[in-house]
Amino acid sequence: MTNCLFCRIVQKEIPASVVYEDDDLVVFNDINPQAPLHALVIPKRHIATLNDVQGADEALVGKMVRRAAAVAREKGYADSGFRTVFNTNAQAGQTVFHIHLHVLAGRGLTWPPG
Ligand code: AMP
Ligand code: ZN
Repeated sequence: MTNCLFCRIVQKEIPASVVYEDDDLVVFNDINPQAPLHALVIPKRHIATLNDVQGADEALVGKMVRRAAAVAREKGYADSGFRTVFNTNAQAGQTVFHIHLHVLAGRGLTWPPG
């Protein structure tokens, strides 16, 4: 989708601080980090929200989750802890409508979230 910010990052039309890329996924640092590690794991293929994930996407979403854990491990946070979050739609605070898995670590993270 040409009007989607994250599709444009996938297409390299908008620069991002990419930390990982393969045929299916891109991982980049959040432009407004909320913790020492704040990366976003996205599929290259446009999916607007978690509500739009289909059965055929299960492997892709599983790959996103495993990549989030791998990034946390590479950054040294596997044992101390990290948080993974999908925000879906307005009340949860979703602002970019291309699914992304937040990976946050490096400080104490309170629960419940705000
Ligand atoms: P959400 O509010 O869950 O939709 O998360 C969207 C995230 O995308 C926010 O944490 C933003 O800081 C982040 N973001 C927005 N634009 C960019 C960008 N150009 N590069 C990296 N991260 C971005
Ligand atoms: Zn998109």
